[in-house]
Amino acid sequence: MYAANWKMNMSAGDAADFADKAKAWIARHHELQNYIVICPSFPFILPLAIELGNSGIITGAQNCSEFPHGAYTGQVSAKQLADVGAMFCIVGHNECRSLLHESSDAIGKKVSLLFEHAINPIVCVGETAFEFEQHQTLTILEQQLAPIIKAIKSAQSIPHEFIIAYEPVWAIGTGKTPEPQTLENVFSWILSHMQSKAPSIQKIRILYGGSVDSLNAKSFKHIKGLGGFLIGGASLDFQKFKNIVGLD
Ligand code: PEP
Repeated sequence: MYAANWKMNMSAGDAADFADKAKAWIARHHELQNYIVICPSFPFILPLAIELGNSGIITGAQNCSEFPHGAYTGQVSAKQLADVGAMFCIVGHNECRSLLHESSDAIGKKVSLLFEHAINPIVCVGETAFEFEQHQTLTILEQQLAPIIKAIKSAQSIPHEFIIAYEPVWAIGTGKTPEPQTLENVFSWILSHMQSKAPSIQKIRILYGGSVDSLNAKSFKHIKGLGGFLIGGASLDFQKFKNIVGLD
């Protein structure tokens, strides 16, 4: 899976242009259908979902409210996202944890609401540079995943495939990436942790995110446990995004 996180970038015209190119491209690559997820800013979700139709490219969102509805000015609910055609939603991105002070508990609540509205969460987890240097990565991931596991346990229905994006904070937008062996160890830990704590999940897909480009994507692709990428900066340019996928 290749998930594009456009963050607060792209104009309506840029988004439409990307969608046109992506549609023409996927028409030649049926094997990619349902493996490309584009997460634009809120105003572009509906137009993009309409434009992409049943092309096989999926429209997602970058966040949702931890509340179901009500007096929360500026927030967008999981239900509203479902109404406009979002099928995936990124939650727990570090920019929301650090800049908007979102707690892991709030992220757990978002996951519950997304489950209720049949939107597949893409749960981001990852440690800071300091935590990495202190060898605290797994402790941090365990803390971040605890409310997610709680949400899974109390859900009435969960998606067939649950998606976790491992995004070390120090790798987001910095050009730095972890060593392949580090990634393999982290993926293996996430998988066994989730399997033992949330056995109701049938399948777990782990994405890597953080300064992904066509070169490092090529070298990471064979890492055991990797199920795709969450791509920020390089997803804003269709050609760069296509180069990461590696199919012309
Ligand atoms: C992200 O913010 O999810 C991300 C992975 O960004 P970038 O690819 O730009 O590091």
